[in-house]
Amino acid sequence: MAGEPQADCLFCKIVAGSVPATVVRETETTVAFRDINPQAPTHVLVIPKAHYPDAATLAARAPQLAADVLREAGEVATEDKVDGSGYRIVFNTGAGAGQTVFHAHAHVLGGRGLEWPPG
Ligand code: 5GP
Repeated sequence: MAGEPQADCLFCKIVAGSVPATVVRETETTVAFRDINPQAPTHVLVIPKAHYPDAATLAARAPQLAADVLREAGEVATEDKVDGSGYRIVFNTGAGAGQTVFHAHAHVLGGRGLEWPPG
Protein backbone atom coordinates (compact mmCIF):
# COMPACT_ATOMS: atom_id res chain seq x y z
CA MET A 1 0.00 0.00 0.00
CA ALA A 2 1.23 3.54 -0.73
CA GLY A 3 3.25 4.98 2.10
CA GLU A 4 3.81 1.70 3.97
CA PRO A 5 7.23 1.23 5.65
CA GLN A 6 9.70 -0.81 3.59
CA ALA A 7 11.89 -3.30 5.49
CA ASP A 8 14.95 -2.62 3.33
CA CYS A 9 14.70 1.20 3.39
CA LEU A 10 17.37 3.12 5.35
CA PHE A 11 15.16 6.17 5.93
CA CYS A 12 12.22 4.02 7.10
CA LYS A 13 14.69 2.63 9.67
CA ILE A 14 15.59 6.17 10.76
CA VAL A 15 11.86 6.93 11.13
CA ALA A 16 11.48 3.76 13.23
CA GLY A 17 14.52 4.66 15.35
CA SER A 18 16.42 1.46 14.51
CA VAL A 19 19.14 3.47 12.70
CA PRO A 20 20.35 6.51 14.69
CA ALA A 21 20.31 10.03 13.25
CA THR A 22 20.88 13.55 14.52
CA VAL A 23 17.27 14.70 14.43
CA VAL A 24 16.77 18.47 14.35
CA ARG A 25 12.98 18.60 13.92
CA GLU A 26 10.12 16.13 14.04
CA THR A 27 6.42 16.53 13.35
CA GLU A 28 3.56 14.05 13.20
CA THR A 29 4.32 13.44 9.52
CA THR A 30 8.00 14.35 8.96
CA VAL A 31 11.51 13.99 10.36
CA ALA A 32 14.48 16.29 9.68
CA PHE A 33 18.02 15.08 10.44
CA ARG A 34 21.60 16.05 9.60
CA ASP A 35 23.16 14.39 6.57
CA ILE A 36 25.89 11.92 7.52
CA ASN A 37 28.15 13.34 4.76
CA PRO A 38 27.41 17.08 4.79
CA GLN A 39 28.08 19.08 1.63
CA ALA A 40 27.55 22.46 3.30
CA PRO A 41 27.59 23.86 6.88
CA THR A 42 23.84 23.27 6.91
CA HIS A 43 22.94 19.98 5.23
CA VAL A 44 19.72 18.56 6.61
CA LEU A 45 17.45 15.93 5.08
CA VAL A 46 13.69 16.33 5.51
CA ILE A 47 11.68 13.17 4.93
CA PRO A 48 8.05 12.15 5.16
CA LYS A 49 7.58 9.40 7.74
CA ALA A 50 5.55 7.48 5.16
CA HIS A 51 7.52 5.77 2.42
CA TYR A 52 7.36 7.13 -1.12
CA PRO A 53 10.27 6.43 -3.46
CA ASP A 54 10.85 9.97 -4.69
CA ALA A 55 9.53 13.52 -4.49
CA ALA A 56 7.36 13.35 -7.61
CA THR A 57 5.62 10.18 -6.41
CA LEU A 58 5.13 11.77 -2.99
CA ALA A 59 3.58 14.89 -4.52
CA ALA A 60 1.29 12.87 -6.80
CA ARG A 61 0.05 10.46 -4.14
CA ALA A 62 0.18 12.55 -0.97
CA PRO A 63 0.25 16.27 -1.85
CA GLN A 64 -0.40 17.48 1.71
CA LEU A 65 2.55 15.42 2.91
CA ALA A 66 4.73 16.91 0.16
CA ALA A 67 3.68 20.34 1.42
CA ASP A 68 4.60 19.29 4.97
CA VAL A 69 8.12 18.38 3.78
CA LEU A 70 8.56 21.74 2.04
CA ARG A 71 7.28 23.67 5.05
CA GLU A 72 9.68 21.80 7.32
CA ALA A 73 12.57 22.51 4.93
CA GLY A 74 11.85 26.20 5.42
CA GLU A 75 11.66 25.77 9.20
CA VAL A 76 15.06 24.02 9.19
CA ALA A 77 16.57 26.93 7.24
CA THR A 78 15.13 29.39 9.74
CA GLU A 79 16.36 27.40 12.75
CA ASP A 80 19.86 27.04 11.26
CA LYS A 81 19.80 30.78 10.43
CA VAL A 82 20.58 30.27 6.73
CA ASP A 83 17.31 31.77 5.53
CA GLY A 84 18.76 35.29 5.37
CA SER A 85 21.77 34.39 3.21
CA GLY A 86 19.85 32.01 0.95
CA TYR A 87 19.67 28.24 0.86
CA ARG A 88 18.78 25.47 -1.54
CA ILE A 89 16.13 22.76 -1.34
CA VAL A 90 17.11 19.83 -3.58
CA PHE A 91 15.23 16.65 -4.47
CA ASN A 92 17.54 14.34 -6.41
CA THR A 93 15.14 12.21 -8.43
CA GLY A 94 16.41 9.05 -10.07
CA ALA A 95 19.82 7.38 -9.96
CA GLY A 96 21.02 9.44 -12.92
CA ALA A 97 20.49 12.62 -10.90
CA GLY A 98 22.33 11.25 -7.88
CA GLN A 99 19.47 9.77 -5.85
CA THR A 100 20.90 6.99 -3.72
CA VAL A 101 18.17 6.52 -1.11
CA PHE A 102 14.79 5.77 -2.63
CA HIS A 103 12.67 7.27 0.14
CA ALA A 104 11.66 10.83 -0.80
CA HIS A 105 13.83 13.45 0.87
CA ALA A 106 14.58 17.14 0.58
CA HIS A 107 18.18 18.23 1.03
CA VAL A 108 18.35 21.63 2.75
CA LEU A 109 21.76 23.16 1.94
CA GLY A 110 23.07 26.48 3.17
CA GLY A 111 25.74 28.35 5.05
CA ARG A 112 28.09 28.75 2.10
CA GLY A 113 27.95 30.16 -1.42
CA LEU A 114 25.93 27.91 -3.71
CA GLU A 115 26.83 27.90 -7.38
CA TRP A 116 24.46 27.68 -10.31
CA PRO A 117 24.16 25.46 -12.27
CA PRO A 118 24.73 22.72 -9.69
CA GLY A 119 27.09 19.88 -10.60
P1 5GP B 1 20.45 11.23 -2.30
O1 5GP B 1 21.83 10.88 -2.84
O2 5GP B 1 19.54 10.02 -2.36
O3 5GP B 1 19.84 12.45 -2.88
O4 5GP B 1 20.68 11.59 -0.77
C1 5GP B 1 20.88 10.62 0.22
C2 5GP B 1 21.63 11.29 1.32
O5 5GP B 1 21.56 10.47 2.45
C3 5GP B 1 23.12 11.52 1.02
O6 5GP B 1 23.43 12.90 1.07
C4 5GP B 1 23.84 10.73 2.11
O7 5GP B 1 24.99 11.36 2.61
C5 5GP B 1 22.75 10.59 3.17
N1 5GP B 1 22.88 9.41 3.99
C6 5GP B 1 23.16 8.14 3.57
N2 5GP B 1 23.15 7.29 4.60
C7 5GP B 1 22.86 8.04 5.71
C8 5GP B 1 22.71 7.70 7.10
O8 5GP B 1 22.82 6.55 7.54
N3 5GP B 1 22.42 8.72 7.94
C9 5GP B 1 22.28 10.01 7.50
N4 5GP B 1 22.00 10.93 8.42
N5 5GP B 1 22.40 10.36 6.20
C10 5GP B 1 22.69 9.37 5.32
